[in-house]
Amino acid sequence: CGIVGYVGHRPALDVVLGGLRRMEYRGYDSAGIAVLDGGELTVERKAGRLANLEAQLDKVGRETMSGTAGMGHTRWATHGAPIDRNSHPHRDTTQRVAVVHNGIIENFAGLRAELEADGVEMASDTDSETAAHLVARAYTDGDTKGDLAASVAAVCRRLEGAFTLVVTHADEPDTIVAARRSSPLVVGVGEGEHFVASDVAAFIEHTREAVELGQDQLVVITREGYEVTDFHGDAAQAKPFTVDWDL
Ligand code: GLU
Repeated sequence: CGIVGYVGHRPALDVVLGGLRRMEYRGYDSAGIAVLDGGELTVERKAGRLANLEAQLDKVGRETMSGTAGMGHTRWATHGAPIDRNSHPHRDTTQRVAVVHNGIIENFAGLRAELEADGVEMASDTDSETAAHLVARAYTDGDTKGDLAASVAAVCRRLEGAFTLVVTHADEPDTIVAARRSSPLVVGVGEGEHFVASDVAAFIEHTREAVELGQDQLVVITREGYEVTDFHGDAAQAKPFTVDWDL
């Protein structure tokens, strides 16, 4: 699928939609967007091509999604039918956390059973939704409490399979966390703005300075910068490069 995340000074909705348009070939099953505006997290998602999501945005009014941080997804369904409620972003029960996912979480059935035994009601049939609930729980509990990057890292350590995840929390509206294992993730480095995506095509109209994340790495992007670690929170080296081809 196609994934894009953005924190900067432009309207996130425009940047994310533009990025999704350039990656639409990666998945036609559904499209979805989350925008953060201060402590508000707004999500719109729709089965079918990106055009369906855009029609829905026109209906609800694009002004309902103002904010300069956000993320988007086009889906290539592996678990769960290509319908609205299986579209990404997925949220936890409090709707404070939003997650988009590329790949397959192999051990999702066990994680899902554990969450359900704990009283969590699943809103979709996807493997991806488990990650949203797990991050929300890590964020409210234990030694990862109140730390989104540490919460995502802790969840990644529990996941098996292939994934690129992009995660936001309404309590950290100026931060986007992304992580990868056996699935692509690149950072776009701009001035006062940063991007994460599954493909540089998502952001090369804005910046050509990119960083390719290695296996089992996590990145935190803000307006000012980015920081790469492993899944244990230790600093890690990722590969900077300049995109020298044209669209
Ligand atoms: N496994 C997830 C799903 O079916 C993600 C699929 C994708 O990579 O688009 O929703």
